[in-house]
Amino acid sequence: MASTLTERLSRLVKTMRGQARITEDNVQEMMREVRMALLEADVALPVVRDFIARVKEKALGAEVVGSLNPGQVLVSIVNRELAATMGEGVSDINLAAQPPAVILMAGLQGAGKTTTTAKLAKHLIEKRKKKVLTVSADVYRPAAIEQLKLVTRQAGAEWFPSTKDDQPLAIAQAALDYARKHYMDVLLVDTAGRLAIDEAMMREIAELHGALKPVETLFVVDAMQGQDAVNTAKAFREALPLTGIVLTKMDGDSRGGAALSVRQVTGAPIKFAGTSEKIDGLEVFDAERHAGRILGMGDIVALVEQVTQGVDMAAAQKLADKVKSGDGFDLEDFLSQLSQMKKMGGISGLVDKLPSQLTGGRTAQLGQADMDRAERDVRRMEGIIFSMTPQERRKPELLKASRKRRIAAGAGVQVQDVNRLLNQFEQMRDMMKKMKGGGLMKMMRRMGG
Ligand code: GDP
Repeated sequence: MASTLTERLSRLVKTMRGQARITEDNVQEMMREVRMALLEADVALPVVRDFIARVKEKALGAEVVGSLNPGQVLVSIVNRELAATMGEGVSDINLAAQPPAVILMAGLQGAGKTTTTAKLAKHLIEKRKKKVLTVSADVYRPAAIEQLKLVTRQAGAEWFPSTKDDQPLAIAQAALDYARKHYMDVLLVDTAGRLAIDEAMMREIAELHGALKPVETLFVVDAMQGQDAVNTAKAFREALPLTGIVLTKMDGDSRGGAALSVRQVTGAPIKFAGTSEKIDGLEVFDAERHAGRILGMGDIVALVEQVTQGVDMAAAQKLADKVKSGDGFDLEDFLSQLSQMKKMGGISGLVDKLPSQLTGGRTAQLGQADMDRAERDVRRMEGIIFSMTPQERRKPELLKASRKRRIAAGAGVQVQDVNRLLNQFEQMRDMMKKMKGGGLMKMMRRMGG
């Protein structure tokens, strides 16, 4: 199991007790860990280098205050720099144009353009109360046109027909005319993608851009693409003035390093994240949350590993026996882990020991608000598990989309929160499996000592 950046830095920090400052000497080693963490999250190498240089500069000037150690301060700087690099605040779709506002969708084949076009249509209809028309300029794949028709219907938007015998430019013009005549607020133009960068494709989309003068040109990119996302992003940025990025397949298991790379290479804000194949799987991008994902922080494994005191050894043994006997680790056990953490004097009582884990890294400005937030996170996780039936808790594999939706509604959270909890649970279960009981006790003892 890859350890999180926080864990690695904490380990390093143990070897440099008493050093109250971040110095040239101790920063080198820490930077190596940060670099590893970013590479593991699939951030592209040149982007990592740039990033490290910026963090180093900030770190060297940073004060190490109060009970914090240099490692914790550094995690906090890294976290903040990541969030700042990926964008501040939220940026919704810009519709400030003479209607119809044209939105051009760009990206490789399979990136999720067509799906995202429909998701955006639904978003604009429901959240912005707009009249939306979609059209496909992908004359190379008739199936793509049909797919857009289908998902547009699901989104409740209007679809403008096109065929493989038309020219992309002519299709776009006809759709624009139709949109004007029918008082559409927005025209979403889905375009042809190729499996790899291709000059003819770039020329075609640049021509479409010139003719349509879109108010938004969105680059759709698959978060699972990792390192490759950089080259794709570069090629699209050179061909088109991009105004925003949509990062799809964020429900996958990538650490999402592509976000950082693509943002840095294009300079365009990341506006949305695709979180499922379904039409409602689109969320406004949250840079701060995503920074935590890239660093692998906020995961419960790190939290548990760091809690060296107050571990209930009897409960740990019981758990160890259970894992050993092959009963498996289920969400009931996960719940009891959470309540154990609460018993240990509540989250705020632990803050002295583990500020960075509990605050997602914002240790330097640790305040009551951060503690409250951490408490809330644990309560929310409990709330999600409480909304499950006992059967679901024992067999988490039952949790398919519709059950997740019900649980999210019951707990008053987003489906993504349910997914996050399940990810954390799976991480812990994997760890338990590797530990095979005996190892677990050893680990607990090591932590306690
Ligand atoms: P296009 O070729 O760029 O138009 O890509 P599509 O819209 O056809 O999407 C390619 C595949 O990715 C399809 O199977 C989609 O269902 C899937 N997909 C798109 N966005 C997401 C997402 O956010 N999450 C998941 N899990 N799948 C997605």
